[in-house]
Amino acid sequence: MADDDFGCTAWGRDWVRLAQPLRQTRPDPLLPRARRLARVGGVRVTIDGRIVRGAVRHGRSTSVACVEVAPMSRETIAGITGRLSGARLLLTDEVHRAVTEGGHPPAPTLAGVDCSCPDGTGRCLHVLAVYYDMARRVDDDPRIALDVQDFFRVSSGGTRLPTAASPQRWIPLNTLDPVDYFTV
Ligand SMILES: [Zn+2]
Repeated sequence: MADDDFGCTAWGRDWVRLAQPLRQTRPDPLLPRARRLARVGGVRVTIDGRIVRGAVRHGRSTSVACVEVAPMSRETIAGITGRLSGARLLLTDEVHRAVTEGGHPPAPTLAGVDCSCPDGTGRCLHVLAVYYDMARRVDDDPRIALDVQDFFRVSSGGTRLPTAASPQRWIPLNTLDPVDYFTV
């Protein structure tokens, strides 16, 4: 199955890589299923700061996967801002490549992964589907890739509390009602 409907930009490809690490050579049978779920709208993602929460409906059950993204390093932020001209944030593949070649790739680093399903590996169908859904969102608007890494809060000199406050934003998964994520 072709992958090119996910990760058609360098920024979105970073999220595809979370599902398909380059070091992984064996085909993962979950990947085509995860792509299909993301393609048919089976994933409802909400982004709250650096927390990506996705309700994934599969068959008659819904699981909620949570991915926490680490804050972007100041070096990477400086690398990106140094390559943007003017007030417009034009995140082209060229900007991505230049920042990567400068030694500070802007790919997201995961701080934590969790899911409400019984699978404890962090690579269940639901988590993978969230990666693909994020890849598509980021392809549409690469600013999301930066926002979820706190780029805008840090680069604007915001006074937001440092990351020590972030664990409190985790909501215990058993308090989430997956039904809330779907309007039907
Ligand atoms: Zn799961």
